[in-house]
Amino acid sequence: MNCTNPWDFKEANYDQNNVNNSESNDHSENYHIEQDQESPECSYCLCRPCITDERNRQMWWENENCVPHERNSFLRKDKFKRFWTNLFHRGVLNDPRYLRRKRDALKRDRPRRQYTYHRRDLIPKCVLELVRKWFPNPSCQEYMGHKWD
Ligand SMILES: [Zn+2]
Repeated sequence: MNCTNPWDFKEANYDQNNVNNSESNDHSENYHIEQDQESPECSYCLCRPCITDERNRQMWWENENCVPHERNSFLRKDKFKRFWTNLFHRGVLNDPRYLRRKRDALKRDRPRRQYTYHRRDLIPKCVLELVRKWFPNPSCQEYMGHKWD
């Protein structure tokens, strides 16, 4: 068996570049992404530009929408987690407006458990819509509450 594949090194390099093009998964306070103050602020995610804007595109974004399937809720969860990290990096989760929305939603939600959260945080509507477009439910299946508006 020939173990000296001349492409190995190149491939490893390529992967490394991909990682650098994507945001780290680091949850430490030191990892901070500056918002673009010239861009309009999204009223849902409070990012400039919106976290779902092409300019914030990440490696793990989908290029095509999946066919509707009940399994998709599992796939959506992973994307919500990743978007949550992006929001974290932009300091949105500490924004007083976000904290107020979260408090209000928790209050409304208590009797009904209508919302689902990632790490007790709400998912903004713009992210919800994008991720549901990528991984739609079958038309007979309702989405779980997940709202932040
Ligand atoms: Zn947004």
